[in-house]
Amino acid sequence: MHNQATSNVSFNLHSILDNPFRLLINGKLVACDRTFDVFNPANNEVIAQAPVGSSSQLETAIEAAKAAFSNWASLSADERGDYILKYADALEERKEALAALLTLEQGKPFHTMATEEVNAAIYWVREVAKRRLPIETIEDTDDHVVEVHHTPLGVVGAITPWNFPVLLGLWKIAPCLVTGNTMVLKPSPYTPLTSLFFGEIAAKIFPAGVLNIVSGGNELGQQMTEHPDIAKISFTGSTQTGQKVMQSGATNLKRITLELGGNDAAVVLDDADWESIIPTLFWAAFGNSGQWCIAVKRLYVHSSIHTQFVKAFVQFAQDKKVGNGMDPTTDLGPIQNKMQYDKLVSLFRDTQKQGYKVPLGGVIDESLAGNFVPITIVDNPPEDSRIVQEEPFGPILPIIAFNDVDDVVARVNATPYGLAGSVWGRDRARAIEVSKRIQAGTVWVNEIHIHGVDIPFGGHKMSGMGVENGHEGLCEFTNTKTYMFKK
Ligand code: NAD
Repeated sequence: MHNQATSNVSFNLHSILDNPFRLLINGKLVACDRTFDVFNPANNEVIAQAPVGSSSQLETAIEAAKAAFSNWASLSADERGDYILKYADALEERKEALAALLTLEQGKPFHTMATEEVNAAIYWVREVAKRRLPIETIEDTDDHVVEVHHTPLGVVGAITPWNFPVLLGLWKIAPCLVTGNTMVLKPSPYTPLTSLFFGEIAAKIFPAGVLNIVSGGNELGQQMTEHPDIAKISFTGSTQTGQKVMQSGATNLKRITLELGGNDAAVVLDDADWESIIPTLFWAAFGNSGQWCIAVKRLYVHSSIHTQFVKAFVQFAQDKKVGNGMDPTTDLGPIQNKMQYDKLVSLFRDTQKQGYKVPLGGVIDESLAGNFVPITIVDNPPEDSRIVQEEPFGPILPIIAFNDVDDVVARVNATPYGLAGSVWGRDRARAIEVSKRIQAGTVWVNEIHIHGVDIPFGGHKMSGMGVENGHEGLCEFTNTKTYMFKK
């Protein structure tokens, strides 16, 4: 399963890995007294040292972002957009190195998901640079004008997770800066290198202090959420940490956007063209080895087709290769870190102990050097099983039978999460009716994982607060300011 082969791409990385990674503070690349090991999850070897930003370095970064704010905010949106477009061009020039670094620290396959993530992120930066929040005229009568303006907030703190460190970081940077804010970004301690690398690229583009990147431990995140000079936290991560962010953000009534965990369901109705959708559903569940907030984590299939569906799904899945992401033949990379790997070991043991039917995978070979977990399908476990109720964040999927639409809708909604979901059926109108009953921020019908710069994305219930992307996502980086003029 574990293939150590690497492509030539890794050799381009020597020049990056041989130089120290540094923080970006006030336009300068800054070294730290302390560093921590960053591991390649495909073999658990140390690939680089990342700087541990100190509390006082974070303080300096926040001060720099505060000092840069008024000049940056006073530029026109077009001027700010031009800087961001230049940034997109500079990222484009280094995109192969960025994707290779992503594979090395995160594990996802270089030739597919890592390259796609980097390309999507650069596309996002370029497109968001062109978006504007125009003044809205609400009333314009003979003697009175009412206008709504969207004014920047100040310093934004961005906190990102380890599953999509490039895309999720740049998703925050571009809208934050185009709307006139400045930023301090703290990446996950598990995947700091890509963020430090795009920070190094940013150092040559933006005025000092506009974008600062500080890596280090979780305590830096806490310091940001408590800091009186940070006006907003844009957070992506687990629900548990999101709750802490909200608590400490209350100190100065920060604006808070939370993109959190999910336990997304896909519902395959009895009339679905089920054979043709299996590849799509496989990748929707197993892409990035299931380490995806919007991965399909529960697959409900009508009992009239369930047995055939599971058989065909297993057939499709069984030749997909789990391995080193640098190997061009790898379909799914390792689990990004030991903490998550250990959670999966526990979940797999529970699945075995309970005696659930496992037609594919099921046993983790813990003797392998990398964090490799086999593609695993659990056939019709009970609704109250851990594998149905918990967010596994790994390549394991329960395929659950249902008879009745009302019942399946109730089961889909019986979760504290509400991130996304999908419904599949030939009768489109009926499938849409079912989709309207799913309590989630995004629901797809006969398609899945479509995102767009202009499409708002966010979770309901304990999957989050607020949205990213779209007009609404841009507005979340601003205050609404109402002007009224007597004519
Ligand atoms: P995590 O919550 O452990 O960490 C996320 C970030 O928060 C890291 O940068 C971490 O250093 C920081 N952090 C930790 N403690 C903090 C504190 N007390 N205050 C402030 N910041 C703190 O999450 P993770 O394990 O890195 O990511 C996986 C989770 O993220 C999953 O639940 C997944 O579903 C979710 N996720 C959600 C989305 C979405 O858009 N909804 C996208 C990707 C991942």
